[in-house]
Amino acid sequence: MNIPIPTYVSTVINRLEACGFEAYIVGGCVRDALLSTEPFDYDVTTSAKPHEVKAALAGYRIIETGIKHGTVTVLADGNPIEVTTFRCDGEYTDHRRPDSVNLTDKLSEDLCRRDFTVNAMAYSEKRGLIDLFGGTADLEKHMIRCVGDAEKRFDEDALRILRCLRFAATLDFQIEKKTSDAVKEKRHLLRFVSAERIAVELTKMLCGKAAARILTEYSDVICLIIPELQAAIGLDQLNPHHIYDVYTHIVKVVEATPPKAHLRLAALFHDIAKPKMMTTDEKGVGHFYGHPKESAAMARDIMKRLKMDNKTINTVCRLVELHDVRPEANKKALKKYLAKNPDVDTDDIMAIRRADLAAQNPVYHHQFDYLNESEKIINELKATDCCLSVSQLDINGKDIAELGAEGKQIGEILNKLLYNVIEDKTANEKNALIKRAKQLIK
Ligand code: ATP
Ligand code: MG
Repeated sequence: MNIPIPTYVSTVINRLEACGFEAYIVGGCVRDALLSTEPFDYDVTTSAKPHEVKAALAGYRIIETGIKHGTVTVLADGNPIEVTTFRCDGEYTDHRRPDSVNLTDKLSEDLCRRDFTVNAMAYSEKRGLIDLFGGTADLEKHMIRCVGDAEKRFDEDALRILRCLRFAATLDFQIEKKTSDAVKEKRHLLRFVSAERIAVELTKMLCGKAAARILTEYSDVICLIIPELQAAIGLDQLNPHHIYDVYTHIVKVVEATPPKAHLRLAALFHDIAKPKMMTTDEKGVGHFYGHPKESAAMARDIMKRLKMDNKTINTVCRLVELHDVRPEANKKALKKYLAKNPDVDTDDIMAIRRADLAAQNPVYHHQFDYLNESEKIINELKATDCCLSVSQLDINGKDIAELGAEGKQIGEILNKLLYNVIEDKTANEKNALIKRAKQLIK
Protein backbone atom coordinates (compact mmCIF):
# COMPACT_ATOMS: atom_id res chain seq x y z
CA MET A 1 0.00 0.00 0.00
CA ASN A 2 1.52 3.27 -1.12
CA ILE A 3 -0.06 6.59 -0.21
CA PRO A 4 1.34 9.72 -1.83
CA ILE A 5 2.41 12.25 0.83
CA PRO A 6 3.44 15.82 -0.02
CA THR A 7 7.16 16.42 0.44
CA TYR A 8 6.66 19.02 3.17
CA VAL A 9 4.91 16.34 5.26
CA SER A 10 7.27 13.45 4.54
CA THR A 11 10.23 15.71 5.42
CA VAL A 12 8.78 16.25 8.90
CA ILE A 13 8.11 12.53 9.32
CA ASN A 14 11.62 11.62 8.14
CA ARG A 15 13.21 14.11 10.56
CA LEU A 16 11.32 12.54 13.47
CA GLU A 17 12.23 9.03 12.30
CA ALA A 18 15.89 10.05 11.90
CA CYS A 19 15.88 11.01 15.59
CA GLY A 20 14.71 7.52 16.50
CA PHE A 21 10.96 8.14 16.86
CA GLU A 22 7.99 6.63 15.09
CA ALA A 23 5.95 9.10 13.04
CA TYR A 24 2.93 8.65 10.77
CA ILE A 25 0.24 10.61 9.04
CA VAL A 26 -3.02 9.75 10.79
CA GLY A 27 -6.79 10.19 10.80
CA GLY A 28 -8.70 12.18 8.17
CA CYS A 29 -5.77 12.59 5.78
CA VAL A 30 -5.18 8.81 5.58
CA ARG A 31 -8.91 8.25 5.05
CA ASP A 32 -9.11 10.87 2.31
CA ALA A 33 -5.93 9.72 0.58
CA LEU A 34 -7.25 6.13 0.49
CA LEU A 35 -10.46 7.48 -1.03
CA SER A 36 -8.33 9.35 -3.61
CA THR A 37 -9.61 12.72 -2.43
CA GLU A 38 -7.17 15.49 -1.67
CA PRO A 39 -6.75 15.67 2.14
CA PHE A 40 -7.78 19.02 3.63
CA ASP A 41 -4.75 19.03 5.92
CA TYR A 42 -2.25 16.59 7.39
CA ASP A 43 -2.05 15.41 10.98
CA VAL A 44 1.01 13.58 12.21
CA THR A 45 1.13 11.23 15.22
CA THR A 46 4.46 10.37 16.78
CA SER A 47 6.13 8.60 19.69
CA ALA A 48 8.20 11.75 20.31
CA LYS A 49 7.12 13.84 23.31
CA PRO A 50 6.42 17.51 22.51
CA HIS A 51 9.85 18.72 23.66
CA GLU A 52 11.42 15.97 21.54
CA VAL A 53 9.33 17.04 18.56
CA LYS A 54 10.60 20.59 19.01
CA ALA A 55 14.21 19.41 19.21
CA ALA A 56 13.89 17.06 16.22
CA LEU A 57 12.31 19.80 14.12
CA ALA A 58 14.66 22.61 15.12
CA GLY A 59 14.62 25.26 12.43
CA TYR A 60 10.87 24.91 11.79
CA ARG A 61 8.44 27.45 13.17
CA ILE A 62 6.54 25.61 15.89
CA ILE A 63 3.44 26.85 17.66
CA GLU A 64 2.43 25.28 20.95
CA THR A 65 -1.23 24.94 20.04
CA GLY A 66 -2.22 22.20 22.48
CA ILE A 67 0.88 21.35 24.41
CA LYS A 68 -1.21 19.99 27.34
CA HIS A 69 -2.68 17.40 24.97
CA GLY A 70 0.65 16.72 23.32
CA THR A 71 -0.03 18.80 20.18
CA VAL A 72 2.21 21.30 18.47
CA THR A 73 1.64 22.89 15.08
CA VAL A 74 4.59 22.82 12.75
CA LEU A 75 4.72 25.27 9.87
CA ALA A 76 6.26 23.45 6.94
CA ASP A 77 6.61 25.48 3.74
CA GLY A 78 3.80 27.66 5.04
CA ASN A 79 1.50 24.68 5.65
CA PRO A 80 0.42 23.93 9.21
CA ILE A 81 0.85 20.31 10.29
CA GLU A 82 -0.52 19.23 13.66
CA VAL A 83 2.01 16.92 15.28
CA THR A 84 0.55 15.06 18.26
CA THR A 85 2.32 12.66 20.57
CA PHE A 86 0.71 9.18 20.82
CA ARG A 87 -1.83 9.57 23.57
CA CYS A 88 -4.64 7.76 25.24
CA ASP A 89 -7.57 9.39 26.92
CA GLY A 90 -8.32 9.12 30.63
CA GLU A 91 -11.81 8.87 32.15
CA TYR A 92 -14.71 10.70 30.53
CA THR A 93 -17.15 12.13 33.06
CA ASP A 94 -18.78 15.02 31.19
CA HIS A 95 -19.78 13.14 27.99
CA ARG A 96 -17.56 15.43 26.01
CA ARG A 97 -13.88 15.52 26.93
CA PRO A 98 -11.53 13.20 28.80
CA ASP A 99 -10.66 14.36 32.32
CA SER A 100 -7.03 13.78 31.45
CA VAL A 101 -4.92 12.66 28.52
CA ASN A 102 -1.87 10.53 28.95
CA LEU A 103 1.02 10.41 26.53
CA THR A 104 2.02 6.89 25.57
CA ASP A 105 4.63 5.28 23.38
CA LYS A 106 2.21 2.82 21.74
CA LEU A 107 0.61 3.74 18.42
CA SER A 108 -2.11 1.13 19.05
CA GLU A 109 -3.30 3.05 22.13
CA ASP A 110 -3.46 6.25 20.13
CA LEU A 111 -5.51 4.64 17.36
CA CYS A 112 -7.85 3.09 19.93
CA ARG A 113 -9.08 6.49 21.16
CA ARG A 114 -10.10 7.62 17.68
CA ASP A 115 -13.76 7.74 16.76
CA PHE A 116 -14.39 5.66 13.62
CA THR A 117 -12.49 2.84 11.96
CA VAL A 118 -12.02 4.91 8.80
CA ASN A 119 -10.49 7.70 10.93
CA ALA A 120 -8.24 5.39 12.94
CA MET A 121 -5.53 4.49 10.45
CA ALA A 122 -1.92 5.64 10.36
CA TYR A 123 0.57 5.49 7.52
CA SER A 124 4.22 6.15 6.91
CA GLU A 125 6.38 5.41 3.88
CA LYS A 126 8.74 3.42 6.08
CA ARG A 127 6.16 1.43 8.09
CA GLY A 128 3.24 1.26 5.67
CA LEU A 129 -0.44 1.34 6.59
CA ILE A 130 -1.39 0.55 10.18
CA ASP A 131 -5.03 -0.45 10.20
CA LEU A 132 -5.93 -2.21 13.45
CA PHE A 133 -9.74 -1.95 13.28
CA GLY A 134 -10.65 -2.77 9.69
CA GLY A 135 -10.69 0.80 8.41
CA THR A 136 -9.78 -0.13 4.83
CA ALA A 137 -12.47 -2.81 4.73
CA ASP A 138 -15.02 -0.26 5.97
CA LEU A 139 -13.85 2.27 3.37
CA GLU A 140 -14.48 -0.34 0.72
CA LYS A 141 -17.89 -1.15 2.19
CA HIS A 142 -18.68 2.58 2.49
CA MET A 143 -19.34 2.13 6.18
CA ILE A 144 -18.97 4.32 9.26
CA ARG A 145 -18.33 2.15 12.31
CA CYS A 146 -17.15 3.13 15.78
CA VAL A 147 -13.82 1.91 17.03
CA GLY A 148 -14.84 -0.41 19.89
CA ASP A 149 -18.22 -0.40 21.58
CA ALA A 150 -20.38 2.27 19.93
CA GLU A 151 -22.55 3.04 22.96
CA LYS A 152 -19.50 3.46 25.15
CA ARG A 153 -17.79 5.70 22.59
CA PHE A 154 -20.84 7.97 22.29
CA ASP A 155 -21.20 7.97 26.08
CA GLU A 156 -17.62 9.16 26.38
CA ASP A 157 -18.00 11.96 23.86
CA ALA A 158 -21.44 12.83 22.52
CA LEU A 159 -19.97 14.99 19.76
CA ARG A 160 -19.11 11.72 18.02
CA ILE A 161 -22.86 11.18 17.43
CA LEU A 162 -22.91 14.22 15.16
CA ARG A 163 -19.52 13.45 13.65
CA CYS A 164 -20.94 10.07 12.71
CA LEU A 165 -23.88 11.66 10.85
CA ARG A 166 -21.56 14.23 9.31
CA PHE A 167 -19.13 11.65 7.88
CA ALA A 168 -22.00 9.46 6.66
CA ALA A 169 -23.40 12.50 4.83
CA THR A 170 -20.16 13.90 3.42
CA LEU A 171 -18.70 10.54 2.37
CA ASP A 172 -22.12 9.13 1.42
CA PHE A 173 -21.49 6.09 3.64
CA GLN A 174 -23.93 3.86 5.49
CA ILE A 175 -23.73 3.72 9.27
CA GLU A 176 -23.05 0.21 10.56
CA LYS A 177 -26.01 -1.27 12.47
CA LYS A 178 -24.59 -1.20 16.03
CA THR A 179 -23.18 2.29 15.50
CA SER A 180 -26.48 3.45 14.03
CA ASP A 181 -28.50 1.96 16.91
CA ALA A 182 -26.13 3.65 19.36
CA VAL A 183 -26.54 7.02 17.58
CA LYS A 184 -30.28 6.80 18.22
CA GLU A 185 -29.98 5.33 21.69
CA LYS A 186 -27.51 7.94 22.91
CA ARG A 187 -28.86 10.98 21.06
CA HIS A 188 -30.07 12.58 24.30
CA LEU A 189 -26.43 13.07 25.30
CA LEU A 190 -26.22 15.81 22.66
CA ARG A 191 -27.28 18.21 25.43
CA PHE A 192 -23.70 17.98 26.69
CA VAL A 193 -22.28 19.27 23.42
CA SER A 194 -21.70 23.01 23.01
CA ALA A 195 -23.87 24.97 20.60
CA GLU A 196 -20.85 25.99 18.54
CA ARG A 197 -19.74 22.39 17.96
CA ILE A 198 -23.28 21.34 17.08
CA ALA A 199 -23.47 24.19 14.56
CA VAL A 200 -20.20 23.17 12.90
CA GLU A 201 -21.17 19.50 12.53
CA LEU A 202 -24.75 20.26 11.47
CA THR A 203 -23.55 22.64 8.77
CA LYS A 204 -20.95 20.20 7.43
CA MET A 205 -23.55 17.43 7.46
CA LEU A 206 -26.05 19.59 5.56
CA CYS A 207 -23.44 20.22 2.85
CA GLY A 208 -22.78 16.51 2.45
CA LYS A 209 -23.71 14.52 -0.65
CA ALA A 210 -26.05 12.32 1.40
CA ALA A 211 -27.53 15.04 3.60
CA ALA A 212 -31.07 14.17 2.53
CA ARG A 213 -30.68 10.52 3.52
CA ILE A 214 -29.27 11.45 6.93
CA LEU A 215 -31.98 14.06 7.56
CA THR A 216 -34.55 11.40 6.74
CA GLU A 217 -33.09 8.42 8.57
CA TYR A 218 -31.96 10.37 11.63
CA SER A 219 -34.77 12.91 11.94
CA ASP A 220 -35.05 11.99 15.63
CA VAL A 221 -31.47 13.16 16.17
CA ILE A 222 -31.96 16.29 14.07
CA CYS A 223 -35.12 17.16 16.03
CA LEU A 224 -33.16 17.05 19.27
CA ILE A 225 -30.99 19.84 17.91
CA ILE A 226 -33.88 21.64 16.19
CA PRO A 227 -37.11 20.63 17.94
CA GLU A 228 -38.95 23.20 15.79
CA LEU A 229 -38.73 20.70 12.90
CA GLN A 230 -40.71 18.04 14.74
CA ALA A 231 -44.15 19.39 13.76
CA ALA A 232 -43.17 19.31 10.07
CA ILE A 233 -42.68 15.54 10.10
CA GLY A 234 -45.61 13.84 8.42
CA LEU A 235 -47.66 17.05 8.15
CA ASP A 236 -49.86 16.74 5.05
CA GLN A 237 -49.91 20.11 3.28
CA LEU A 238 -53.40 19.50 1.81
CA ASN A 239 -52.40 21.66 -1.12
CA PRO A 240 -52.27 20.79 -4.84
CA HIS A 241 -48.78 22.33 -5.14
CA HIS A 242 -47.43 19.69 -2.81
CA ILE A 243 -47.10 15.94 -2.93
CA TYR A 244 -44.88 15.62 0.13
CA ASP A 245 -45.39 16.31 3.81
CA VAL A 246 -43.62 19.44 5.08
CA TYR A 247 -40.53 17.67 6.42
CA THR A 248 -40.04 15.53 3.31
CA HIS A 249 -40.44 18.65 1.17
CA ILE A 250 -37.81 20.47 3.29
CA VAL A 251 -35.40 17.54 2.91
CA LYS A 252 -35.92 17.47 -0.85
CA VAL A 253 -35.25 21.20 -1.07
CA VAL A 254 -32.01 20.73 0.90
CA GLU A 255 -31.02 18.00 -1.56
CA ALA A 256 -31.80 20.17 -4.59
CA THR A 257 -29.83 23.16 -3.27
CA PRO A 258 -26.12 23.63 -4.13
CA PRO A 259 -23.96 22.40 -1.21
CA LYS A 260 -23.03 25.75 0.29
CA ALA A 261 -23.64 26.32 4.01
CA HIS A 262 -25.88 29.39 3.75
CA LEU A 263 -27.98 27.87 0.96
CA ARG A 264 -28.47 24.52 2.68
CA LEU A 265 -29.36 26.26 5.96
CA ALA A 266 -31.87 28.45 4.14
CA ALA A 267 -33.35 25.32 2.56
CA LEU A 268 -33.60 23.61 5.97
CA PHE A 269 -35.42 26.58 7.49
CA HIS A 270 -37.44 27.91 4.57
CA ASP A 271 -40.73 26.26 5.55
CA ILE A 272 -40.10 25.61 9.24
CA ALA A 273 -43.03 27.83 10.27
CA LYS A 274 -45.51 26.06 8.00
CA PRO A 275 -46.99 23.87 10.77
CA LYS A 276 -47.56 26.96 12.92
CA MET A 277 -49.04 29.05 10.08
CA MET A 278 -51.20 26.38 8.45
CA THR A 279 -54.88 27.12 7.91
CA THR A 280 -57.43 25.00 6.04
CA ASP A 281 -60.12 26.65 3.93
CA GLU A 282 -63.74 25.50 3.50
CA LYS A 283 -62.68 23.25 0.62
CA GLY A 284 -60.14 21.56 2.85
CA VAL A 285 -57.15 23.12 1.06
CA GLY A 286 -54.13 24.00 3.22
CA HIS A 287 -52.67 27.51 3.19
CA PHE A 288 -49.57 28.93 4.85
CA TYR A 289 -50.02 32.70 4.68
CA GLY A 290 -47.11 34.61 6.18
CA HIS A 291 -44.92 31.52 6.62
CA PRO A 292 -41.75 32.96 4.99
CA LYS A 293 -41.52 35.82 7.47
CA GLU A 294 -42.30 33.59 10.41
CA SER A 295 -39.85 30.94 9.16
CA ALA A 296 -37.15 33.63 8.99
CA ALA A 297 -37.92 34.66 12.58
CA MET A 298 -37.71 31.05 13.75
CA ALA A 299 -34.52 30.50 11.75
CA ARG A 300 -32.97 33.53 13.44
CA ASP A 301 -33.82 32.18 16.90
CA ILE A 302 -32.47 28.73 16.07
CA MET A 303 -29.22 30.00 14.53
CA LYS A 304 -28.69 32.38 17.46
CA ARG A 305 -29.25 29.50 19.85
CA LEU A 306 -26.61 27.55 17.90
CA LYS A 307 -24.31 30.59 18.20
CA MET A 308 -23.82 30.91 14.45
CA ASP A 309 -22.14 34.06 13.17
CA ASN A 310 -24.25 37.14 12.37
CA LYS A 311 -23.34 37.20 8.69
CA THR A 312 -24.62 33.66 8.18
CA ILE A 313 -27.73 34.36 10.26
CA ASN A 314 -28.60 37.50 8.29
CA THR A 315 -27.92 35.97 4.88
CA VAL A 316 -29.93 32.84 5.63
CA CYS A 317 -32.86 34.77 7.12
CA ARG A 318 -33.13 37.05 4.09
CA LEU A 319 -33.20 34.04 1.75
CA VAL A 320 -35.90 32.40 3.87
CA GLU A 321 -37.92 35.60 3.96
CA LEU A 322 -37.75 36.02 0.16
CA HIS A 323 -38.13 32.40 -0.94
CA ASP A 324 -41.77 32.79 -1.85
CA VAL A 325 -41.72 36.32 -3.33
CA ARG A 326 -42.63 36.08 -7.01
CA PRO A 327 -42.12 39.33 -8.90
CA GLU A 328 -43.51 39.31 -12.43
CA ALA A 329 -40.96 38.35 -15.06
CA ASN A 330 -40.65 41.79 -16.61
CA LYS A 331 -38.03 44.52 -16.37
CA LYS A 332 -40.04 46.98 -14.32
CA ALA A 333 -41.12 44.48 -11.65
CA LEU A 334 -37.66 42.96 -11.41
CA LYS A 335 -35.94 46.34 -11.18
CA LYS A 336 -38.20 47.16 -8.22
CA TYR A 337 -37.45 43.78 -6.68
CA LEU A 338 -33.68 44.29 -7.03
CA ALA A 339 -33.87 47.85 -5.70
CA LYS A 340 -35.87 46.65 -2.71
CA ASN A 341 -33.50 43.78 -1.90
CA PRO A 342 -30.03 45.06 -2.72
CA ASP A 343 -28.46 42.93 0.03
CA VAL A 344 -29.62 39.61 -1.42
CA ASP A 345 -27.48 37.69 -3.90
CA THR A 346 -29.79 36.96 -6.82
CA ASP A 347 -28.01 33.71 -7.70
CA ASP A 348 -28.62 32.50 -4.15
CA ILE A 349 -32.29 33.34 -4.12
CA MET A 350 -32.77 31.78 -7.57
CA ALA A 351 -31.04 28.61 -6.33
CA ILE A 352 -33.44 28.38 -3.38
CA ARG A 353 -36.50 29.09 -5.52
CA ARG A 354 -35.50 26.49 -8.09
CA ALA A 355 -34.91 23.89 -5.38
CA ASP A 356 -38.24 24.77 -3.77
CA LEU A 357 -40.06 24.34 -7.07
CA ALA A 358 -38.22 21.10 -7.85
CA ALA A 359 -39.56 19.66 -4.57
CA GLN A 360 -43.17 20.59 -5.36
CA ASN A 361 -45.79 18.77 -7.37
CA PRO A 362 -44.26 18.15 -10.87
CA VAL A 363 -47.57 19.33 -12.36
CA TYR A 364 -46.32 22.85 -11.58
CA HIS A 365 -42.83 22.40 -12.99
CA HIS A 366 -43.74 24.55 -16.00
CA GLN A 367 -43.00 27.41 -13.56
CA PHE A 368 -39.34 26.74 -14.23
CA ASP A 369 -39.96 28.70 -17.47
CA TYR A 370 -40.97 31.70 -15.37
CA LEU A 371 -37.89 31.30 -13.13
CA ASN A 372 -35.63 31.01 -16.17
CA GLU A 373 -37.15 34.08 -17.76
CA SER A 374 -36.83 36.05 -14.48
CA GLU A 375 -33.21 35.02 -14.16
CA LYS A 376 -32.48 36.04 -17.74
CA ILE A 377 -33.95 39.51 -17.21
CA ILE A 378 -32.16 39.94 -13.88
CA ASN A 379 -28.84 39.09 -15.53
CA GLU A 380 -29.53 41.53 -18.35
CA LEU A 381 -30.39 44.25 -15.84
CA LYS A 382 -27.22 43.58 -13.91
CA ALA A 383 -25.14 43.66 -17.08
CA THR A 384 -26.45 47.09 -18.08
CA ASP A 385 -25.72 50.01 -15.81
CA CYS A 386 -29.39 50.68 -15.10
CA CYS A 387 -30.14 52.49 -11.89
CA LEU A 388 -31.06 50.09 -9.08
CA SER A 389 -29.88 51.93 -6.00
CA VAL A 390 -29.93 55.42 -4.54
CA SER A 391 -26.17 55.64 -4.96
CA GLN A 392 -26.59 55.28 -8.74
CA LEU A 393 -28.91 58.31 -8.96
CA ASP A 394 -27.56 61.37 -10.72
CA ILE A 395 -28.31 63.32 -7.54
CA ASN A 396 -27.19 62.90 -3.95
CA GLY A 397 -28.20 63.76 -0.39
CA LYS A 398 -26.29 67.02 -0.44
CA ASP A 399 -28.23 68.19 -3.51
CA ILE A 400 -31.51 67.31 -1.82
CA ALA A 401 -30.47 69.17 1.36
CA GLU A 402 -29.70 72.24 -0.72
CA LEU A 403 -33.29 72.11 -1.96
CA GLY A 404 -34.45 72.52 1.64
CA ALA A 405 -35.01 68.95 2.84
CA GLU A 406 -33.74 67.91 6.26
CA GLY A 407 -32.81 64.78 8.20
CA LYS A 408 -34.86 61.65 7.48
CA GLN A 409 -36.70 63.41 4.66
CA ILE A 410 -33.52 63.40 2.53
CA GLY A 411 -33.37 59.62 2.45
CA GLU A 412 -37.10 59.32 1.83
CA ILE A 413 -36.90 61.66 -1.15
CA LEU A 414 -33.92 59.84 -2.62
CA ASN A 415 -35.87 56.60 -2.33
CA LYS A 416 -38.91 58.08 -4.02
CA LEU A 417 -36.69 59.40 -6.82
CA LEU A 418 -35.20 55.94 -7.24
CA TYR A 419 -38.64 54.38 -7.69
CA ASN A 420 -39.63 57.17 -10.09
CA VAL A 421 -36.55 56.37 -12.18
CA ILE A 422 -37.26 52.63 -12.05
CA GLU A 423 -40.83 53.23 -13.20
CA ASP A 424 -39.57 55.52 -16.01
CA LYS A 425 -41.49 58.45 -14.52
CA THR A 426 -38.31 60.51 -14.21
CA ALA A 427 -35.08 60.32 -16.18
CA ASN A 428 -31.93 59.61 -14.19
CA GLU A 429 -30.55 63.01 -15.07
CA LYS A 430 -29.75 65.76 -12.58
CA ASN A 431 -32.06 68.52 -13.82
CA ALA A 432 -35.03 66.18 -14.11
CA LEU A 433 -34.33 64.77 -10.65
CA ILE A 434 -34.04 68.24 -9.11
CA LYS A 435 -37.34 69.23 -10.66
CA ARG A 436 -39.05 66.11 -9.29
CA ALA A 437 -37.38 66.51 -5.87
CA LYS A 438 -38.73 70.08 -5.59
CA GLN A 439 -42.25 68.73 -6.19
CA LEU A 440 -41.74 66.08 -3.54
CA ILE A 441 -40.41 68.53 -0.95
CA LYS A 442 -43.38 70.88 -1.32
P1 ATP B 1 -11.97 16.66 8.53
O1 ATP B 1 -10.69 17.37 8.88
O2 ATP B 1 -12.18 16.39 7.11
O3 ATP B 1 -13.14 17.32 9.20
P2 ATP B 1 -10.91 14.59 10.20
O4 ATP B 1 -11.17 13.12 10.27
O5 ATP B 1 -9.51 15.01 9.88
O6 ATP B 1 -11.93 15.19 9.18
P3 ATP B 1 -10.65 16.15 12.58
O7 ATP B 1 -11.71 16.77 13.42
O8 ATP B 1 -9.67 17.01 11.89
O9 ATP B 1 -11.39 15.20 11.56
O10 ATP B 1 -9.89 15.12 13.53
C1 ATP B 1 -8.72 14.43 13.16
C2 ATP B 1 -8.75 13.01 13.70
O11 ATP B 1 -8.84 13.04 15.11
C3 ATP B 1 -9.96 12.21 13.25
O12 ATP B 1 -9.74 11.58 12.00
C4 ATP B 1 -10.08 11.19 14.36
O13 ATP B 1 -9.11 10.17 14.22
C5 ATP B 1 -9.69 12.00 15.58
N1 ATP B 1 -10.84 12.65 16.25
C6 ATP B 1 -11.30 13.91 16.06
N2 ATP B 1 -12.32 14.18 16.86
C7 ATP B 1 -12.53 13.08 17.60
C8 ATP B 1 -13.44 12.74 18.64
N3 ATP B 1 -14.37 13.60 19.05
N4 ATP B 1 -13.34 11.50 19.19
C9 ATP B 1 -12.39 10.63 18.77
N5 ATP B 1 -11.52 10.88 17.80
C10 ATP B 1 -11.57 12.08 17.22
MG1 MG C 1 -8.75 17.08 9.86
